[in-house]
Amino acid sequence: MRRPAVFIVTMALVLVLAGLSVLNRAAAPASASEQPGASLDRPAQDSTEWVLDEMSFESNYPDGFTFRITPRSTGGEIVRARLVWYGPAQRANQTRRVNVEEGEIDPETGVITARWEPSATQMVPPWVQIRYHWELRDESGSVYETEPALAEYEDNTRDWTRAESEDAIVFSADLSGDVEELVLDAMAERHDTYLAVWGASLPYRPRVILFGDYDAWLEWRTADTNTSETSVVVGQTYDQWGAIVQVLFGRDLDEAYRDLAYGTVVHEVEHLYQNEFHSGRRLYDVPGWFYEGDATFFELRQSYDYEQRVRGMAAADDLPPLLVGVVGGPRIDGERPRDGYDIGYTFFVWMQTLRGDLSVHRDVMAALAQNVPFIEALEAATGMTKDEIEREWRLWLGASEAAPTLIPTWTPPPFLEPPTPMQFGQSN
Ligand SMILES: [Zn+2]
Repeated sequence: MRRPAVFIVTMALVLVLAGLSVLNRAAAPASASEQPGASLDRPAQDSTEWVLDEMSFESNYPDGFTFRITPRSTGGEIVRARLVWYGPAQRANQTRRVNVEEGEIDPETGVITARWEPSATQMVPPWVQIRYHWELRDESGSVYETEPALAEYEDNTRDWTRAESEDAIVFSADLSGDVEELVLDAMAERHDTYLAVWGASLPYRPRVILFGDYDAWLEWRTADTNTSETSVVVGQTYDQWGAIVQVLFGRDLDEAYRDLAYGTVVHEVEHLYQNEFHSGRRLYDVPGWFYEGDATFFELRQSYDYEQRVRGMAAADDLPPLLVGVVGGPRIDGERPRDGYDIGYTFFVWMQTLRGDLSVHRDVMAALAQNVPFIEALEAATGMTKDEIEREWRLWLGASEAAPTLIPTWTPPPFLEPPTPMQFGQSN
């Protein structure tokens, strides 16, 4: 059995996940396309009458799902049908990330079937919601688009527990105890903080899908390119599905449940908020440490004292520059990926000290949502210049006033990545 003995995530994992992230963004399957919602065909303005019988969705988990429809048109035989499926909470003005499956028309029965199967480039976790519609064309050229329908990619092959609150829906399999309750408790505890920072809740309830069996986890992970013992993917967050999917194994489950609920889940949900409210942002100038620091700020349980670690760096004159004289600031990858998380975290704690509440944090996020350049957003929210921000933050951490002049030892990336909502586990 390919089951690693430890939960500790290695550097190899970070690299694998970085690769996965690129794969998910870039490697659209051949059947997928991107198009604005407005350009999808609309019902034709003609006198053709369409009747739809038996529109259905069937989960074949872990082997995908099947859509069926039996349409009739006064315009004659159906000559083409395609099924379009996508995330459940897709915004109307958002560029659609859709998947398209050609429908197979049975000339005898009139039943049209479309199937999706997992592949080496595309996988879908169980229990996510899928929204879909059919686009139909008859031999007269009349086209018809069905109203979108919602379906759930059920796993009926094993026992799942489902628990929900106003904040989240939790699914778990092969886990004992009250892990669902812990997750819902953590979400409830953070409810007001999400609201204070973003001004609104997510327009959907995030789904938290938890596996306690590693083989069950691997069953749907068809697009994992590397499952060797030193680089195990233990979780992934999908903004498209509004879902956080995790596997727990190989350690004290009681501790793991608490780390998951009060650490991982509230962190990952903040990435869902970032994706939701900054999805319209066209400037990719927000550094990784900022988004990871923000997500880390939401953790209610730390595997070590992040602020104390950064204060130690400051005391040792080892605190790298954040904004001044650098591109990107502390890294969230490379040799010391925790630097970006921990240093970024202290920046959000510091922002909270400025007015004693979350209003600076909130103002920065609101400005970024309005596509204000990153530095401008910080300066406007804090009322300080970039240099003053750097100095005040450093002094608060106990560092010397001046940021060290960095001799670049690495080539700055040509562009800054948009937020990557990936769970690296805790590299403690
Ligand atoms: Zn993160």
